[in-house]
Amino acid sequence: TTGTDIRTWFDGRWHDGDVPVMNAADHGAWLGGTVFDGARYAYGLAPDLLAHCVRVNASARALMMVPHIDPRDMVGIVWEGLRRYPQDAAVYIRPMYWTRQSGPGAIVPAAAEPGFCICLESIPMPSEDASVRLTTTRFRRPVIESSVVNAKAGCLYPNNARMLAEAQAKGFDNALVADALGNVAETATANVFMVRDGEVLTPVPNGTFLSGITRARHIANLTADGMDVRETVLTFDDFRQADEVFLTGNMAKVTPVSDFEDRHYDTGPNGNPVTRRARQLYWEWAASAAD
Ligand code: PMP
Repeated sequence: TTGTDIRTWFDGRWHDGDVPVMNAADHGAWLGGTVFDGARYAYGLAPDLLAHCVRVNASARALMMVPHIDPRDMVGIVWEGLRRYPQDAAVYIRPMYWTRQSGPGAIVPAAAEPGFCICLESIPMPSEDASVRLTTTRFRRPVIESSVVNAKAGCLYPNNARMLAEAQAKGFDNALVADALGNVAETATANVFMVRDGEVLTPVPNGTFLSGITRARHIANLTADGMDVRETVLTFDDFRQADEVFLTGNMAKVTPVSDFEDRHYDTGPNGNPVTRRARQLYWEWAASAAD
């Protein structure tokens, strides 16, 4: 394998490689005040890049930071960095903010300008056909009163890591994760949809899980295509009774689900027509959109 090709935008310019950005006294380093967003560049396209840059600023505000980089400027900086990669490269785009020093023992972050960087990392070209197998997990999404669930915050992800590790230890790829009430929220890394009797269903955002940018894009595309798409409360049993299940996220766009525990879904050439239609609509939209 070839090594990952990393570029970092920090302190006003692009650097080759993975550069140090945090200081020992930075508030974010010891109290976890970090936010990020993730977008994917592939096939010369970075779909919804502006939306991801807008969201990282919203995430920063949720952690009491005052973001100082305009999302449109961020998009320009990212494209400048992407030009340093071969045109056929696939690259993960990660803008990040973190709280800077606030003085010893200060739990509330200073109003000082937060740290900011953008990290680009080359990734293997994702396979569009890979399907995943899901299980359940005993770990749940926190509620807004107990964590900053309204942000894409680094501090939420150790919980997602234990969900994934638990699922993988059981021989699955990922887990369907419950919210505080026990209804399905999302997976450890992506949002989830199911199809039943021709209707597309996805958990209604209730403040406990990331209401994904790719999720919103698929809802818009499928609705415009004439499908019935409904956001509603969904249980694990609803997923057992589904005709098809798919995941959405910036990394894989649409991922077919072949199994949920002992329930198998047909992901063969005729088995998941809505999943395949969602993928086709996504790429038609992406080719015509420009960020
Ligand atoms: N849920 C979680 C926990 C995620 O990490 C991601 C990936 N960012 C998503 C959902 C999908 O969100 P998006 O479509 O905005 O990438």
